[in-house]
Amino acid sequence: MITLKEALTQSPEALAEIRRELKKRAESNALNAVISFDEAGEGVPILLKDNIQVKGWSVTCASKILQGYVAPYDATVVTKLREAGMAPFGRANMDEFAMGSTTESSYYGPTLNPYDTSRVPGGSSGGSAAAVAAGEAIAALGSDTGGSIRQPAAYCGVVGLKPTYGRVSRYGLASYASSLDQIGPITQNVEDAAILYDAITGHDPRDSTSADRSDEPVAGRIDPDRPLRIAVVENYAAEASDAVQRAHEEAVKALEEAGHRIVRTTLSNTKYDIATYYIVATAEAATNLARYDGVRYGRRCEDPKNLADLYFRTRSEGFGEEVKRRILLGNFVLSSGYYDAYYLKAQKVRHLIRDEFNRVFEEADLILAPVAPSVAPELGALADPLEMYKSDMYTIAVNLIGLPGIALPIMKDTETGLPVGLQLLAKAFDERTLFDGAASLERAVNYKN
Ligand code: GLN
Repeated sequence: MITLKEALTQSPEALAEIRRELKKRAESNALNAVISFDEAGEGVPILLKDNIQVKGWSVTCASKILQGYVAPYDATVVTKLREAGMAPFGRANMDEFAMGSTTESSYYGPTLNPYDTSRVPGGSSGGSAAAVAAGEAIAALGSDTGGSIRQPAAYCGVVGLKPTYGRVSRYGLASYASSLDQIGPITQNVEDAAILYDAITGHDPRDSTSADRSDEPVAGRIDPDRPLRIAVVENYAAEASDAVQRAHEEAVKALEEAGHRIVRTTLSNTKYDIATYYIVATAEAATNLARYDGVRYGRRCEDPKNLADLYFRTRSEGFGEEVKRRILLGNFVLSSGYYDAYYLKAQKVRHLIRDEFNRVFEEADLILAPVAPSVAPELGALADPLEMYKSDMYTIAVNLIGLPGIALPIMKDTETGLPVGLQLLAKAFDERTLFDGAASLERAVNYKN
């Protein structure tokens, strides 16, 4: 598959041909990664997760409740793509409202992992990652609230970047958990991730949490030869499967040989990550999803008897099981009497987690960590919600504290042949160092599809 960098040099005719080819592939692969196409568009085709608005396109967050809803405006990232010679060309499948780790909760049915179709591609941006891995997209955008870009990238052997909170405008992204959500690229390699990252970043007055900074672009300036101090969290990797631990050891070796200094450290507050995340994320989700009431957006139940019936049946029929579970949990942790014990406590723990990471960043430029505890699980293996939540253990801390992280493929598991990815994490707004380290690691491990 042509890379994003190469695609940006192609003529409009060649790009039109590429669009047709991508569509053909998606149709013959039957992974259910791409759920709709726009063949008429111009520019380098970029696949978009189904929670990013494109004016005149349907945007459904893979939910029944948003069937029939057409976006009235472009998300800021879409405007920026167009300014950079790119354009959306299709919709990627996802977990309903980005809540999930497998892309199995989609209204459109699950997406399959291109390496092994009995496995999940990860989630919630599973469609974006599977499509890039299977050559159905040159590059894609996903969203990462608790790992939804990095984890599917790791399961599908591609590169996924979650930028620093505030780097990329959330204007036009359907909100899941507003203090955690970030849009980011899923690409075939690190350089393409930098190109797409440069294209979509920047201050946006329409997003009040957008950072007002003017950092230099990254692409074209990545320095894989810059020696870095890279922290390895010893107690972290020890909890992962053998395949992930092997990849971790390989990566440490490769980084040392590439001239980086490995700093061994431990993190003790990581045990609070999952509880904290699932309180904060569900609280914000319950609040954000209150807007889907059958009046303002999308699908409405048939023949409502009165207003209460309209709300009740629209929401009961429109939301899937996982989304309902989170709305219930979120409203519970926000309810009077429990607010202090759960929500407020979780916000405090968020600070503890941040302080501990900051301490590590006093002695290291980057942190190397697993993305998921195992390779891509079988379809249905994470049917127990608690098991699924636990599989997010390595990705959610950086969302809670706003840091950037990039996942990239390291090696194939010898037993299953599935890709194993790892992630590098950096200080807030230090994407430049993140890309330097990622490019160095990419070169050192030389992963081949
Ligand atoms: N798996 C996590 C969740 O279900 C993360 C999802 C995401 O990043 N959108 O909430």
